[in-house]
Amino acid sequence: MELLDNPVRRYAWGSRTVIAELQGRPVPSPHPEAELWLGAHPGDPSCLLFSDGRRISLLDELAADPVTRLGEASARRWNGQLPFLFKVLAANEPLSLQAHPGAADAAAGFARENAEGIRLDDARRNYKDVNHKPELICALTEFHALCGFREPEGTLELLGALAVPELAAHVDLLAGQPDHGGLRALFSTWITLPQRLLDHMVPAVQRACVDLLRKGGPDRAFGAELRTVLELSEQYPGDAGVLAALLLNRVTLAPGEALYTGDGVLHAHLSGAGVELMANSDNVLRGGLTPKHVDVPELLKVLDFEACPAPVMTGTADGVITRYDTVAEEFRLWRLDWSGPTNGDVVPLPDSGPRIVLCTAGSAKVSAGSGRSMTLDRGESLWLDATDVAVKVASVDGPAQLFLATDGTRTSDR
Ligand SMILES: [Zn+2]
Repeated sequence: MELLDNPVRRYAWGSRTVIAELQGRPVPSPHPEAELWLGAHPGDPSCLLFSDGRRISLLDELAADPVTRLGEASARRWNGQLPFLFKVLAANEPLSLQAHPGAADAAAGFARENAEGIRLDDARRNYKDVNHKPELICALTEFHALCGFREPEGTLELLGALAVPELAAHVDLLAGQPDHGGLRALFSTWITLPQRLLDHMVPAVQRACVDLLRKGGPDRAFGAELRTVLELSEQYPGDAGVLAALLLNRVTLAPGEALYTGDGVLHAHLSGAGVELMANSDNVLRGGLTPKHVDVPELLKVLDFEACPAPVMTGTADGVITRYDTVAEEFRLWRLDWSGPTNGDVVPLPDSGPRIVLCTAGSAKVSAGSGRSMTLDRGESLWLDATDVAVKVASVDGPAQLFLATDGTRTSDR
């Protein structure tokens, strides 16, 4: 049981308040702070803070003794590595339009780019590792995102209302085949349009959105969708990603709601703060809405064009504890909330094996069966390894909230 010291990632789309406030630092922070990484990703691992003052990389600790740290089952299943990466994400501006490859595509892509001699730190490199990257975001504030293709009927309704003459022939593509094949044809057409056509079409869509919003008042159907397309077109004029945004589910999460993004699902986080749990991978294929490297042919290879409503979850609550189950084996997310009558309730911390606990509100006391205990204040986080058994947690002096990340293959509490 050791406190963690976690790296802050300063991407331009980050917030100057959320992560600094969480950690009790002055706001606004001098730089935008986009993500706090809690884990053992080789690109930026957390450090363990030992009580005798030593500060050691979690990545090095795991490499030195994976069986003690992860437990035998997890160490074997995940080749001695921590299977998940836990984050606090704070988006002030939209992130790129992206999807993550499935495991087979990731392994093939990684081998191919190695063979082509593209270095890991090359900006053109798509595949940084051999892992897929399912991800789950749970909102801390109201959180906005685009995720997965909308059912074609809804999209045809939206495109019909917009009535952009420049898009008429494209809309017919989807109307003639209102399924995943039609979505594939339409998306592939839009994302590969020559720039001179995009420079004409994106402003036409922008004007149609303005007209439709003016006509319909604030409560009109697709209001949030239209405002999002407008915002994206202002930030990325002439970007094919603006057209793609017309095809995606527009999602608003309330605090505590979570959104799962599986292999090949097209998505873009728009704004808000959340905790995010994902497989320990950095494989991203971008389609637009970014100054970073975009690789459309590779994106088209891995995309899932099956339309469905965005998988928003409220989790399964049992007293203080809420669990968020997904199909991902690498991780499971849990939320522990003490408020009102549950204040001070002592509960067993779910699951075993490698775990990371993050305090997002109030203070909580974490006690292990060995007799060791530690108080975790807002913004602090803790590493628990396989030797920390019979762990109990309770809020200290009023309401508190913890998030817990565990290995998804563990079944001790199922
Ligand atoms: Zn993503």
